[in-house]
Amino acid sequence: SYDIHIIGGGLAGSEAAWQLAEAGLRVRLSEMRGVEGTPAHQTDGLAELVCSNSFRSDDADSNAVGLLHAEMRALGSLIMREGDAHRVPAGSALAVDRDGFSSGVTAALAAHPNVEIVRERIDVLPASGPVIVATGPLTAATLAASIGAATGRDSLAFFDAIAPIVHRASIDMEIAWFQSRWDKGDGDDYINCPLDRDQYQAFVQGLLDGEKTEFKDWERDTPYFEGCMPIEVMASRGPETLRHGPMKPFGLRDPRTGERPYAVVQLRQDNALGTLWNIVGFQTKLKHAEQVRLFRTIPGLERAEFARLGGLHRNTFIRSPELLDAQLRLKSRPNVRFAGQITGCEGYVESAAIGLIAGRFAAAELAGHALESPPPTTALGALLGHITGGAAADSYQPMNVNFGLFPPLETEAKKAERKPALTSRARRDLERWMASDQGPFASSEVEKR
Ligand code: FAD
Repeated sequence: SYDIHIIGGGLAGSEAAWQLAEAGLRVRLSEMRGVEGTPAHQTDGLAELVCSNSFRSDDADSNAVGLLHAEMRALGSLIMREGDAHRVPAGSALAVDRDGFSSGVTAALAAHPNVEIVRERIDVLPASGPVIVATGPLTAATLAASIGAATGRDSLAFFDAIAPIVHRASIDMEIAWFQSRWDKGDGDDYINCPLDRDQYQAFVQGLLDGEKTEFKDWERDTPYFEGCMPIEVMASRGPETLRHGPMKPFGLRDPRTGERPYAVVQLRQDNALGTLWNIVGFQTKLKHAEQVRLFRTIPGLERAEFARLGGLHRNTFIRSPELLDAQLRLKSRPNVRFAGQITGCEGYVESAAIGLIAGRFAAAELAGHALESPPPTTALGALLGHITGGAAADSYQPMNVNFGLFPPLETEAKKAERKPALTSRARRDLERWMASDQGPFASSEVEKR
């Protein structure tokens, strides 16, 4: 028997399960992998990272996702605990060893006395009893149809694309070099491949001419998410677009010439061993053979061996601002909460964060308390506010956390002081919110466990 049913053991479902279990509630966590896969996952592990291994900036003073990391750590996040435990070098970003991370999350939940992990696919939205739906962008079709029926709407869909991964040993380090942009972090966390003007122009032309994966009929009108735009779509926006995007040379110097190259391709470490590196920002829908041919024209990657090539996937999310209340409950069926990317947040960290707060809301409700929403001045509150009410339902699009979601500062601040002022306000308000909570997460309760 259990107190709450969580469907989906990804980033959001795993975090929600942890929060509930830690609050003393018994959780049934249903995950279909092990019985049936998805088009993007490659393992049966919980919280598998399907593409990049990065949780993005870890700077809590001047970056919104870095602030969200800090808030989640303060709230006892399992995803952040395991992310920190499996960190690999990535400048000022938090990148993780994907297998170690997923194994750590799986082991922690499997060992928790309040969690039962069941490998099963759920096809129908449960009619009664507390439920959290955290089935992500690749929600199985049967359940998606059941959600569509319950919400009276078709789920929205759009495209994301994933970037290729290269074997480190196949990169020519006579040409490529280690350096972080502006020497941030340890100063040498990225591998850089230099392109001169002719090489850059030929590469851009190659992207434009390259053969692309055909769209299926139902996919044709689906728009791209701006933050995960395929590289060939970026190239089609103008010859200079990539040189001001993922191929920008700023803050980098080629040690062979002592100068800044015309353009650069950067690779970031993808596993703890340092044997795999992903090409930063190179998500693509070029055909696989075309990717191999074209990416091997990049100086340093002439003999690159690919551990994975780029690809496309579909994303599913509901119109949360219209369908969900401030506590992430489906207005028409308040026993059901939604969490993670299916609510229309975007990104690993954001998905886990919404899992965290969904878990806390549910835990408080089951304990007979009302947990107030985190203040909109915090990263968690700002993101939640966007999902449950801030955005116009008609034009609702998935969103990474960013300072644009925060209420403006009460007093004018100089540009350089704005972000530090926003983050210190957030820290203060999060502390107040945590201190005012009398529910199952009140600090005395936590100490008792
Ligand atoms: P998921 O982590 O996908 O978890 C959902 C879980 O539910 C899965 O384990 C799935 O197997 C399970 N499930 C689905 N249907 C059912 C069912 N009916 N019954 C039982 N279980 C079910 N974000 C980034 O920050 N960086 C990236 O590089 C990035 N790349 C992405 C690439 C791809 C291909 C995709 C699809 C998404 C990407 N995202 C990325 C976006 C997003 O951050 C991830 O999808 C993230 O995993 C979302 O977390 P989630 O918990 O909502 O969903």
